[in-house]
Amino acid sequence: MAKFKMNITIEECIGCAACQAVCPDCFEMKDINGEMKAKATKQEFDELGCAMDAAESCPVNCIHIFEDGEKKI
Ligand code: SF4
Repeated sequence: MAKFKMNITIEECIGCAACQAVCPDCFEMKDINGEMKAKATKQEFDELGCAMDAAESCPVNCIHIFEDGEKKI
């Protein structure tokens, strides 16, 4: 089982692309019904890498990271 899991509350995403700028390995922007939204390209991983920096950069705090099931952000 992966140590870290990540998800985005997509309804809250304002499409600012900060997460992709900070961590292009884990995020991409997608047009969803005419609105740009972030998509997590990795949802489970063993090394946190830049994902936490990206979550911290999100202006609406809609990126959530869990470590061993415990919410970190
Ligand atoms: S930083 Fe947050 S609001 Fe901005 S695109 Fe990424 S998930 Fe959406």
